[in-house]
Amino acid sequence: MGRVEKLVCTGCSLLCEDIDVVFDDKGKINNIFSMCNVGFERFKHLSLDNRLKSSAIRGENKFTNISIDDAVERVAEMLKASKKPLLYGWGYCSCEAIKLGLDIARKLKGVFDNQASKGYWYAYAQAEKYESISNVLEKTLDYANHVIFLGFNPAETHPRHASRYSIFPRGVKVEKGVEGRSITVIDSEETKTSRIAHNKFILEAEDELKLIKTISSMLKGEKLTTSISDVSETKLLELVRDFKNSSYISIFYGSSFFENRDYRLKVDTIYQLVEKIREVNVECTALPMPKPYNMLGAIKTTLKETGYPCAVDFSDEEKKHSPEEKSAINMILNGEVDLALIVGSNIFAELSRPARKKFMGIPVIVLDFIESLTVKNSNLYVASAITGLETGGTVYRADEKKISLTPLFKPPENILSDEDFLSKVYKKI
Ligand code: SF4
Repeated sequence: MGRVEKLVCTGCSLLCEDIDVVFDDKGKINNIFSMCNVGFERFKHLSLDNRLKSSAIRGENKFTNISIDDAVERVAEMLKASKKPLLYGWGYCSCEAIKLGLDIARKLKGVFDNQASKGYWYAYAQAEKYESISNVLEKTLDYANHVIFLGFNPAETHPRHASRYSIFPRGVKVEKGVEGRSITVIDSEETKTSRIAHNKFILEAEDELKLIKTISSMLKGEKLTTSISDVSETKLLELVRDFKNSSYISIFYGSSFFENRDYRLKVDTIYQLVEKIREVNVECTALPMPKPYNMLGAIKTTLKETGYPCAVDFSDEEKKHSPEEKSAINMILNGEVDLALIVGSNIFAELSRPARKKFMGIPVIVLDFIESLTVKNSNLYVASAITGLETGGTVYRADEKKISLTPLFKPPENILSDEDFLSKVYKKI
């Protein structure tokens, strides 16, 4: 019997650091403590049938397995032959792997983009401006007596959010735990989280925005001039009174609220509310909650290396960065890249039909550990180690805590970490 304590789970951006794993005498996992169902799913990938066991290249009709050395050679050759490669993904990688991706893109004058270009880059920029990132989870645990979940359903995506930080635990100033916190959910559908909320607003997307703006106006003391379907004036007045009686309101918001064409407008509306809440002398923060466990690491590493958070075109000196124009999806759709290297992302599933057509017209290389739709539509895929379980590295929790991952197992034979593979490729180009 053996026990590994304080393993970090990479199931979501909470990066829980309290996972204990017990092994039997033969070295097989006997029990796992403190892990939620989403974390277990990640563990299960170690032995799932659709785990990629070897790298492979597409032939006439099927994929043929190749050795890892061969994969390095071929990927380097394909990249060198490309005039403008796109390197995309990175939210599910260590910061060390992300840095290597940036080095390759810079050297080849390609385009580097991460999942944050769909809106999280802006959400984090605004969160930073309003001092809403650093240590917000612990602050919520200790001081938040009102928590708002906006388009964010932690019960499904970040299952231990409620038990570790935002709803149930007792904190320094929230001694009664759940009994000492008001919970508000604003979402477009009933969720497991909304079922336990004191105040819930299940609204169409445009009404969600209207509701937030209305609360901001009411906090300023303005009279209610607009109506929101199914929300009575009394309910709004009660909510505003509840806000004013709070000492710290912690807002968590997810991609389903803001990730679309209007993401700047939606994110701005959240921080206008933060401002209005602060003006009535109530402390308030609003933290975006991405699903990819290292979304913030991808933003921070890209910022550190290039000065921009995402969507960087190393071939364009005049307009190097534009989340709208230089995002992976736009570059593919506009036919501006002639090869795609995708790392830990199932981008194919997110592309529109015209973008898919363009994507399938260029060579695609994928690094992943699981057989996704993108892997199936690639020209060459590289089976990689599972970060956090088979390989380590640096990652950032959603509220900026820097965390070092320590692997629990060795990766299978012929399989490297993203970092090791990209490092070998970098040396060849
Ligand atoms: S909440 Fe997230 S990080 Fe924590 S155990 Fe669950 S999946 Fe893992």
